Amino acid sequence: MAGSYTYTPPVTEVGTRPIGPYERLSAEVHEWDPRTVEVAARVADLVRERRPDLTVEHIGSTAVPGLPGKGIVDLSIETTPGEIPDVVAMLYDLGFGPQPGPDPWPPTRPMPVGSLDLDGTLYRIHLHVQPVGGDFPRDIAFRDALRNDPELRSQYEGLKRGITSGGAVEGLRYTHSKTRWILSVYRRLGFAPPPIAPPATVGILGGGQLGRMLALAARELGYRIAVLDPDEHAPAAGIADSVAVATYDDVATALRMAAECSVITYELEHVGPAVVAALDDRRRPIRPGPYPLKLTADRIAERRFVEANEGRVAEWREVAGPAEVLHAAAELGYPLRLKAIRGGYDGRGQARLDGTDAIAELDGRIGWPALLERELAFEAELSVVVARNVDGVSRTFPLARNRHDRGILVESTVPAGVPSAVEEAAANLAESLATSMGLVGTLTVELFLMADGSLVVNELAPRVHNSGHWTIEGATTSQFEQHLRSICGLPLGSVEMRAPAAAMVNLLGEGAPRPAHPTGTYEALLVPDTHLHIYDKATVFERRKMGHVTALAATVEEALARAREAAGHIGWALAAEASPTEPSG
Ligand code: ADP
Ligand code: MG
Repeated sequence: MAGSYTYTPPVTEVGTRPIGPYERLSAEVHEWDPRTVEVAARVADLVRERRPDLTVEHIGSTAVPGLPGKGIVDLSIETTPGEIPDVVAMLYDLGFGPQPGPDPWPPTRPMPVGSLDLDGTLYRIHLHVQPVGGDFPRDIAFRDALRNDPELRSQYEGLKRGITSGGAVEGLRYTHSKTRWILSVYRRLGFAPPPIAPPATVGILGGGQLGRMLALAARELGYRIAVLDPDEHAPAAGIADSVAVATYDDVATALRMAAECSVITYELEHVGPAVVAALDDRRRPIRPGPYPLKLTADRIAERRFVEANEGRVAEWREVAGPAEVLHAAAELGYPLRLKAIRGGYDGRGQARLDGTDAIAELDGRIGWPALLERELAFEAELSVVVARNVDGVSRTFPLARNRHDRGILVESTVPAGVPSAVEEAAANLAESLATSMGLVGTLTVELFLMADGSLVVNELAPRVHNSGHWTIEGATTSQFEQHLRSICGLPLGSVEMRAPAAAMVNLLGEGAPRPAHPTGTYEALLVPDTHLHIYDKATVFERRKMGHVTALAATVEEALARAREAAGHIGWALAAEASPTEPSG
């Protein structure tokens, strides 16, 4: 409320809405403007005229005299969940509109936006509509703490100025960069979000090997696991308490599974948008988050995001068909990579073009529009897994060096053997990308290391990753446990290595599709300091990821030699019944 301030609204002209349109701008820090109090009071009056039962509170930085900020007037109304649609309709009637931008608040706690012209100055307004039981009391307490504590105010001001360093930054990046400090204040004020403690049920969309290893880590911590996967015999099924058999666009089944879960996570990016939207109802969090999922499921959106956040990507074009491929190729130069915008993985859904291809033949192999980008002559492929928790605190695992064969990961080694400046740059980039998307959980950044030591982002995955499997034995906390800790609101674990070097070698299937029976497990485990992981997939086929081996040693060379030796013993029986468990002579 505006305290003793009184304001008499002018008579509004008939047919003119008092609230004007809103423009999404990048964030800059301005001095506190006392007139924002007038704006807040004016909106409060407009709302009171229509709904005397509602109170509009002025919150956020403009509600704290003397505190600089981006100058948007934040207001908040608390009401019952059932009333929210009516309140929003009333606000739209005043001229407010829906929140623009890539990551709006869900309809269960919307934030209509608008503007008010005060003697020629346009003030932008965010009007949060909070369901009872939501964040309304916390936002008031935070405002009051800032009003009453000059030291807190000056800390907050310093933080804001540090983020923007005198210039403008992307709005979401600005918001999420403040999380860490703000959450520490919430904690002091007694508004820390309680952790999701065992034996809560963690829901996992996708029951492949990543879901399986996540479920194993969840079991250790005492959580229960619900998995959704189209295949009832998916690798995670044997670990989960329940399996919902459904496709990734089956909204009804996803909602049924979610009803028993305290948090939902995912092991793949290809969850249907309708399922994501339906689950995003504030009954339980989806983490790493609906926005990171939407962003990384679309290779074009992902590239735009990286570029907007000071990361580099290979030069690219969106192409609508073969004719545009030829046109763009003339600009970019061969060799090129043509990639499906959605759905590709393990090198599937992409083609290499060297200029001799019959482009017309691509039709049907890759859907249009597609992404066309330069093939880079990199020195090495690297990846970094970062975990960011609910409090905005992040921790980055050591960088891995990855070797791919025809688009599929075959080996990862750690340390990556790069200068510490590269290691640091990769960690900073990963943390900054995770922060900018407001991610809670793990994010994997696939990178190309160029000859000049610079890093180019190849791909983002808002999840645990094959190149992080070495952490199960090689790091103090595995990527799977770290992911769970972050999505459940628990403190992050140490990312220290347990040995000087680790190597992970994938076990890829061979031959025609047939029931999967590994051979050579006995011989593989004769290799010292080696750990075998078999994913229990029902069927093996050529190049399918069936398991992996991790070895720890004093040097990368030694670890890799051991992991390769052990992996070399593993084969796949040709007939279903052949599954030797005895050492062969
Ligand atoms: P996926 O989703 O299948 O992992 P990626 O885009 O990561 O798709 O491509 C798989 C692999 O193909 C990469 O790890 C890299 O080895 C190679 N690759 C992809 N894009 C490029 C590129 N622009 N330049 C060079 N190699 C590339
Ligand atoms: Mg990749």
